[in-house]
Amino acid sequence: MFIEYEDLRRVNAPFQEEFTGAFAGLLKSGWYILGSQVESFETAFAAYCGTEHCVGVASGLDALVLALRSLDLKPGDEVIVPANTYIASILAVLHNGLKPVLVEPDIQTYNIDASKIEAKISSRTKAILAVHLYGKLCNMEAILEIAGRHQLYVVEDCAQAHGASYKGKKAGNFGDFGAFSFYPTKNLGALGDAGAITFQGNERLSLLKQLRNYGSEKKYHNNMVGFNSRLDEIQAAFLAIKLKHLDRINQHKRELAQIYDQGLNDQFIMPVKQDDYEDVHHIYPIRHPERDKLRQYLLDHEIRTEVHYPIPPHRQKAMQGVIEKDDYSLTTEIHDTVLSLPVSACHSAEEIHRVVEMLNRF
Ligand SMILES: *Cc1c(COP(=O)(O)O)cnc(C)c1O
Repeated sequence: MFIEYEDLRRVNAPFQEEFTGAFAGLLKSGWYILGSQVESFETAFAAYCGTEHCVGVASGLDALVLALRSLDLKPGDEVIVPANTYIASILAVLHNGLKPVLVEPDIQTYNIDASKIEAKISSRTKAILAVHLYGKLCNMEAILEIAGRHQLYVVEDCAQAHGASYKGKKAGNFGDFGAFSFYPTKNLGALGDAGAITFQGNERLSLLKQLRNYGSEKKYHNNMVGFNSRLDEIQAAFLAIKLKHLDRINQHKRELAQIYDQGLNDQFIMPVKQDDYEDVHHIYPIRHPERDKLRQYLLDHEIRTEVHYPIPPHRQKAMQGVIEKDDYSLTTEIHDTVLSLPVSACHSAEEIHRVVEMLNRF
């Protein structure tokens, strides 16, 4: 039997009855945009993350764009972002007319190397965008310390880190904002596009709610240049159902990760484990010098894997002349060698044992 990398039909099948009930209720209500479903999901998700507020938006990218837009930044201001990230983190900076300044990762954690941030801070630096890649939190203690010293905002890209924690504190609860994606494959995934911004305090609550809805608080009264970036009622209803199972899903992924941790032999570079970090294994990345050969070998043995990601941001066509030239060799090294193993809510321990066995025979 083929082991797929991910199978969203299997992931969502357990919720069919609840989804159908939610859909029937919504259809009957006749209210599809910004209503009680969005409000109750926002309340539940803020409580889950441990923040005071959550504002639902249309996608993870929009969550990042609007979080940055709500700050008093000027065109050309600089934002520190990891060089080793998904392109969305950098796009969010660019869509705000800001300048992304890339910092190399820690080769152990694959997250931004906090010790390399200060060398890239200039008088125009206004924020740090920390990305919790693959389901592991960044070194937020160090990042917040640097941000405090230089008076920088901190935005967390939590798209891969729903429920991940450091010393019991969850992603989205460290910086000024947490930006989440609920893209279907994420640990908490909708049945379409969806996202959210989490934060403490009331200062920017009204601003963010207006930004997502045409800059208006009251219909047809536009206070600012806003967006149409609303979380749909139907997606909020589906997400509220799945949120109740998020801890269980994360725990399941943790158990699968442990099978890899304990079973794989030493030809593979394994993801690092650190005290006080509770990872949620959005992705289980191993590294191998013959990554492409390894991937083909697994495919020949009916195991599908993925590469997150094949082309680093600084080598993307769209980023030529946008990202400053620098030495991004660690980022490149990771992109050349990383392989994502199956670690989904839909996989059984038995399947993962088979992946381990095949890998060890490579
Ligand atoms: C998925 C993802 C995003 C973007 O989320 P969308 O909902 O697809 O817009 C942003 N950052 C990271 C790190 C992601 O993995």
